[in-house]
Amino acid sequence: MKTLVINSGSSSIKFQLLDMVSEAVLATGIVERIGEPVGKIACTVHPGSGQERNIDREERIATHHQGMMLVGAVLCDRDGGVIRSNKEIDIVGHRVVHGGEQFQRPTVIDDAVIDAITENIPLAPLHNPANLDGIVVARQLFPAIPQVAVFDTAFHQTIPDWAYIYALPYELYEQHRVRRYGFHGTSHKFVAGECARLMGKKLSDINLVTIHLGNGCSMTAIENGRSVDTTLGMTPLEGLVMGTRSGDIDPAIHAFLYRNKGMDLERIDAMLNKESGLKGICGFNDMRDIHAAAAQGDERARLALDVQTYRNKKYIGAYVAVLGRVDALVFTAGIGENDFIVRERSLRGLESLGIELDHDRNRCRIKVPTPLHTETSRIQIWVIPTNEELAIARESIGLVSDAADQR
Ligand code: ADP
Repeated sequence: MKTLVINSGSSSIKFQLLDMVSEAVLATGIVERIGEPVGKIACTVHPGSGQERNIDREERIATHHQGMMLVGAVLCDRDGGVIRSNKEIDIVGHRVVHGGEQFQRPTVIDDAVIDAITENIPLAPLHNPANLDGIVVARQLFPAIPQVAVFDTAFHQTIPDWAYIYALPYELYEQHRVRRYGFHGTSHKFVAGECARLMGKKLSDINLVTIHLGNGCSMTAIENGRSVDTTLGMTPLEGLVMGTRSGDIDPAIHAFLYRNKGMDLERIDAMLNKESGLKGICGFNDMRDIHAAAAQGDERARLALDVQTYRNKKYIGAYVAVLGRVDALVFTAGIGENDFIVRERSLRGLESLGIELDHDRNRCRIKVPTPLHTETSRIQIWVIPTNEELAIARESIGLVSDAADQR
């Protein structure tokens, strides 16, 4: 069973080919700078495929169609590709950012699904059109292969209305679906499943707080395996402090900036998404640069670290209150997996909630799922690397096998 996972963005297509019998990665790569004068394709063919080689070349890639043709061509290059023909691919799984309220789970793509993803474009104007480009081209290139959409929002569709309704005029929800949706759902669900497995429990029996800290950051309260609250909102801007995104702010700041600085809404939106967060406070959005600057005495870098980790801690406390009983906290993604200082600061002072970090374990370099709690900690603490491609491939295979069983 070979599964091709596609993450089609506005100017790039990330891809991974997996053998889903062994879950080995056969090839992974990216087509970048689509539509620019010079594009780039990079692909690593992994040893698990029986071959090993790298492709890294620059050429103009005018459209997503051309980009996807290149993906097909590097994968089934007769001269050293991982597959002999596109027919060896059994399923294509697509990451789709916004499934609105229509999609509670992964879905086999047909024309009606494409229409529904199109309807959700106003909710994710940057992401859904790019995801759709990838889907449309992949259906043309691989017409006989089932294609599955896996939505970032789907896992959070179990959130109850008191947690997803904003205190705004209710018509905005009824007429325009203005509500919390949440994102990173594939990652939160994946690490929750792995955590249950590692704890030797059923996911439906445990309560977790999963903490995804990458460029984008979010936290999810999971009750008996189901998402009951999450920090990202109608768009991926709310909640935690991110690389360049503000997270929570007073909404009245919009009006203040408009009245006092003459900023229009497009400008404010761009500022909140691209010039805020860690970068807004100290000029750096990569945590490694922030640590290096803080070590040199850069006060703004120290402040950025303090603001982010304080917000993390505040939401951990909030989600312990939401859940009542918490079995484990799980850190994941670039910062969550690698940065022991952020983990330590985010948990500092939470001992009274039953959260006790083992500082020696926390400081080890961690590449595999690892427990970080002390023997006496009431709540377990884990680092579990996320793997969104594997998660999308598993969800896609599961869905197509279930459909085949029912036939
Ligand atoms: P994305 O949200 O784009 O998928 P990742 O999960 O890959 O992002 O996280 C990227 C971020 O992780 C980087 O911007 C950086 O801040 C952080 N990061 C990566 N490696 C390290 C490291 N060794 N130490 C601290 N932070 C790291």
